[in-house]
Amino acid sequence: MIQKILIANRGEIALRIVRACRELGIKTLAVYSEADVQSLHVQLADEAICIGGPKSADSYLRADRIISAAEIADVDAIHPGYGFLSENAKFAEQCESCNIKFIGPKSKSIKMMGDKAVAKDTVRKAGVPIVPGSDGPIENETEAVKIARKIGYPVIIKAVAGGGGRGMRIAHNDISFAKEYHVARNEAEKAFGNGAVYIERYIEKPRHIEFQILADSHGKVLHLGERDCSVQRRHQKLIEESPSPFLSSDLRKKMGKAAVRAAEAAAYENAGTIEFLVDAKGNFYFIEMNTRIQVEHPVTEECTGIDLIKQQILVANGEKLSFDQGDIKFEKHAIECRINAEDPSRNFAPSPGTIGLYYAPGGHGVRVDSHAYSGYVIPSHYDSMIGKLICFGTTRKVALERIYRALSEYIIRGVKTTIPLHKAIMADPVFIEGKATTAYMEDFMSRTPPDLFS
Ligand code: ADP
Repeated sequence: MIQKILIANRGEIALRIVRACRELGIKTLAVYSEADVQSLHVQLADEAICIGGPKSADSYLRADRIISAAEIADVDAIHPGYGFLSENAKFAEQCESCNIKFIGPKSKSIKMMGDKAVAKDTVRKAGVPIVPGSDGPIENETEAVKIARKIGYPVIIKAVAGGGGRGMRIAHNDISFAKEYHVARNEAEKAFGNGAVYIERYIEKPRHIEFQILADSHGKVLHLGERDCSVQRRHQKLIEESPSPFLSSDLRKKMGKAAVRAAEAAAYENAGTIEFLVDAKGNFYFIEMNTRIQVEHPVTEECTGIDLIKQQILVANGEKLSFDQGDIKFEKHAIECRINAEDPSRNFAPSPGTIGLYYAPGGHGVRVDSHAYSGYVIPSHYDSMIGKLICFGTTRKVALERIYRALSEYIIRGVKTTIPLHKAIMADPVFIEGKATTAYMEDFMSRTPPDLFS
């Protein structure tokens, strides 16, 4: 049995993992950078080791230091959270070879699904629809233009090693293609150290709908329903909800089955997510698999009542999932708003600094996952998410009313946050009617005066 876990992450997800471990009676070791000494996960974990300077490259991305900390503190397992080393196959392999359980899939599955071109090919062979596009990376511009014409404009140029919405460019004709192809390659090289790109048809105004997967090491693969993550800015999610207001029960069943087939094709183990784009007619296309826990996992937890972090730990421990597909009940509607320290009225400029007063909302159907507190200094070295507000109820209407109420109660002084923006969205008829696609944010920002969310 796993007795002690090293948490190779920071912020709210590190805290979330500490909490799950406490309930399971498992000891925790926090590793942290010099910028995170004051962080709640460091204060609440059983033990803590500083692994380096504030930059991620000097701390949270230093696999060697993390493994050394694991050996010094004699842990049995490492939970990587999301981001940082969570989808790094080499790190998972290092853990495996040091006899430390990596709480996630086998390194082989990470490698397979981490290369977006290989991932698409793998799921296509399992009969899951994919976005029409190039078979793999395209090295040569002349070749690339030919393929773009064949797919038909508009097309999207994407980094093979992509993530976090970076390295993606849209082209509407041969001329813009030539330009965007080079920009995408440069961006990908800078962001991922790998300039390889591939091309897909650009689906216009789709919905982003993803399925949560849970799989054990005994061959059982289940899905825990979908999350609609269509509200995005620059391909980055801002709001997630479940169930999707768009899916019919037939389409939900079809997509759920396809998601399970995709995970089976990757010989998947542990928690993961199959992401789809869905067009206005209900055609759905696989875009990628995330081989880790996701930011938006609480939405699924509140709908199903299943604790995903605990399940991840149990699966890593070799245990069988104790329930079947038919046992999973979807009885609630849940919505999550990502609370970022950013100024939406100034093009989402990061707003690090010291939080003055911090007061989180509460009451029936409200969950706040956050590492922030009064006096907490938000470091400028990491992403700007300082918390997640998740509200749930028996219907979408109840969840919407509740999250508007909770946003109105949420006080974070001293820094700018996305709270006023979320409030404005929760009062917007297009969102309330469940009509948001991935084009929603651009439209919303263009028709809403900035002083409404400053
Ligand atoms: P990342 O790994 O960087 O998050 P994804 O492949 O998951 O990239 O795509 C992120 C978002 O980009 C999607 O949710 C969608 O909004 C947009 N996107 C990606 N591929 C397409 C496509 N073929 N057509 C239209 N939009 C797309």
